[in-house]
Amino acid sequence: MILFNKANMLVLFIFIHSSLMPQNNNEIYFADLHNSCLLRCFESNGNDYLEDDRFPLNLNSLITPKIIIASLCIPRFNLSYYDSVSINDVIKFYKRFKNNSISQYKDVAFANNNYCIDILSNEKTLIFFSLEGTHLFNGNINWVDSLYNVGICLIGIGHHFENEFLNSNNSSECYGPPRFLSENTSLTNLGKELIEHMISRDILIDVSHLPENVFWQIVEINSNRSPLVASHSNVRALCDTSRNLSDIQILAIAKSKGLIGVCCHSPFISIDRTNITIHDLVDHIKYIVNLIGDDYVSIGTDFEGRIKPPIGFSNLNDTFLLIDEMRRRNFSEETINKIMWKNIYDLFYTWKYSHKIDISQDNMMFYSEIHEHIIKQ
Ligand SMILES: [Zn+2]
Repeated sequence: MILFNKANMLVLFIFIHSSLMPQNNNEIYFADLHNSCLLRCFESNGNDYLEDDRFPLNLNSLITPKIIIASLCIPRFNLSYYDSVSINDVIKFYKRFKNNSISQYKDVAFANNNYCIDILSNEKTLIFFSLEGTHLFNGNINWVDSLYNVGICLIGIGHHFENEFLNSNNSSECYGPPRFLSENTSLTNLGKELIEHMISRDILIDVSHLPENVFWQIVEINSNRSPLVASHSNVRALCDTSRNLSDIQILAIAKSKGLIGVCCHSPFISIDRTNITIHDLVDHIKYIVNLIGDDYVSIGTDFEGRIKPPIGFSNLNDTFLLIDEMRRRNFSEETINKIMWKNIYDLFYTWKYSHKIDISQDNMMFYSEIHEHIIKQ
């Protein structure tokens, strides 16, 4: 009952703020469903990058509050990491990064699986942690619980290579050199358990990078219980690569009430052209809006994910250019706000914190309580 009241309060709160939605470019919030800025912090063991204007995310010069789904991907078989990074190192990094950043940046707060602040009332940038790829689990699904406890809200099932959860042998044992994910890759029995476990813990499932076969296995297991997220994928009809989504995949994500983050990597925007612009990026957004409406599309920049961004758009403070382009293309202000931040806000606030009555009711905190909690940690 208590949660029911809180959920209502949250809905009311969102409604009030929607009516006060900012119209000025500099005041429109921005939410990023995927970027790889954390990798540089992990590699350098410090936050120096986050204070450099040449970096896509400068936590000292945020123009407007943002919601940032900060993803850490430790690429497997990169020579500098070959068998040298464990999931424990990653968990320690998340804790250290959060603790250091809370004391270092006054306008930044962190969410975890039990609480978050509201950026609208606190005017703070809110960071959610995500992990890209499950290869560091070495087939142990219990790592999901450790990641849940450290605040991971979204996990990408795959990255580039097969692992114990997804491979073409249907075996949870992985021997020999790694194979790239391919159309022959499918979820192993252990992979199916992993998906079930993530759903039971309310950790969102990220389907970007997955071969279409694996995507459909997940759709079937999920049966619309959890919103499916493609955090950084574009439209295959406009750019025919397996990293992009077919129309029917886009429809399936919408049916799960999930979210697509349109990605800024030029080869996923156009396969045969160079000099990609924001106009080309907006083509992908427009295609998705025409197909499924404007509720399930957002931006997942993938900045710092070894990408080639569109000309002139490589920083989270450049997002006003995207707004200008959408206005030029006659997107309504309501649609622009949904794409720029509100769809992510709705998924990570409304769904995650109010859809079930068994999410740690007693530990669930909102607004000022939460802020105090973060400061005390
Ligand atoms: Zn990626």
